[in-house]
Amino acid sequence: MARIVMKFGGTSVADLDRIHNVARHVKREVDAGHEVAVVVSAMSGKTNELVGWVQNTPKVAKADSPFYDAREYDAVVASGEQVTSGLLAIALQSLGVNARSWQGWQIPIRTDNAHGAARIMEIDGAEIIRRMQDGQVAVVAGFQGLGPDNRIATLGRGGSDTSAVAIAAAVKADRCDIYTDVDGVYTTDPRIEPKARRLKKVVFEEMLEMASLGSKVLQVRSVELAMVHKVRTFVRSSFEDPDAPGMGDLLNPPGTLICDEEEIVEQEVVTGIAFAKDEAQISLRRLADRPGVSAAIFGPLAEAHINVDMIVQNISEDGSRTDMTFTVPTGDLDKALKVLDEQKDTVGFDVIQSESGLVKVSVIGIGMRSHAGVAAQAFSALAAKGINIKAITTSEIKISILIDGAYGELAVRTLHSAYGLDKK
Ligand code: ASP
Ligand code: MG
Repeated sequence: MARIVMKFGGTSVADLDRIHNVARHVKREVDAGHEVAVVVSAMSGKTNELVGWVQNTPKVAKADSPFYDAREYDAVVASGEQVTSGLLAIALQSLGVNARSWQGWQIPIRTDNAHGAARIMEIDGAEIIRRMQDGQVAVVAGFQGLGPDNRIATLGRGGSDTSAVAIAAAVKADRCDIYTDVDGVYTTDPRIEPKARRLKKVVFEEMLEMASLGSKVLQVRSVELAMVHKVRTFVRSSFEDPDAPGMGDLLNPPGTLICDEEEIVEQEVVTGIAFAKDEAQISLRRLADRPGVSAAIFGPLAEAHINVDMIVQNISEDGSRTDMTFTVPTGDLDKALKVLDEQKDTVGFDVIQSESGLVKVSVIGIGMRSHAGVAAQAFSALAAKGINIKAITTSEIKISILIDGAYGELAVRTLHSAYGLDKK
């Protein structure tokens, strides 16, 4: 007997047929004797629709705020999950499974006060555990909790992944299964490289890199949480026949396990190639090389909520002037240039240069920590294809390379095969 949290995303509960199919997945685990709690998203497209309603309701919308009132935004957009949790409880009951729906406030899932992008502070798992031990399935509305002001708070888009992992941690589940419309995590995006393979296991740190680099399988925060609490998390498909052979396998269900490094017996050097489009590069030329300059650049950008990545500062040639290059999302380029221009006197640079439409390709793998020559391999593979590198940054487990957008897909395929990731 195990304790399992099963999470179903928007496409998995998109209509009543699919909700019925989800109920069959849940029934399979219940019939196998496991203790089960379920977390659901809203039907796919529903949250977008609700957000649109909120944005278009005020006659005089605040120009740069997407929410008219963040508390009422939360009251409206959290309703999508209320509907699916109730419907799934009904579908389960119709299959003879004892089930009850739960909203965030009923558990409660306590969050901070950041309406619209709240963080989970605490979950009282006692009642869910008691019900599970009684043989009842708790169907929990994802994406929502209760703020310190006693109002519904939502966790930011994609937040029901985080709800699921947090509940799994709170009830000390053996496994958290994230059911979605893909059957696992791949070595790269199969739409770009058809030879991409599904990974059996990915280490938390690697998944964190992949998630933050644009692989949209899981919300980044859910991976952070899984890493901190060591929640073994499976990514698997809800579209397979719930009763197909192996679907109920306790140790090796079909999908990708995201887990602690200790669970990986033989680590490959490189696990995957990630890809982020629409990057823009900004270079500040000949800026003063003295304390406080970086703070004067990146402080104001942070205040303007511009996400800066790939910061490269050169070592000054003469001790007085240096160059600084970094990337921002293309959509933020104009805003960033404006902010920087206002800092020109404080920072004391000569010129700003910028370029948009770039891509960042990243090679990820914890095996890099103990292997030399991984970066050199990437550079020669790209050189052989005539792809020019604009900037490079590295961490212990990642090499990120900035290149012209036109070569993005070629670079992904080139690196994918250079590290032997192609389907055998
Ligand atoms: N329904 C919410 C969203 O679309 C939360 C989720 O699906 O994870 O962002
Ligand atoms: Mg999602």
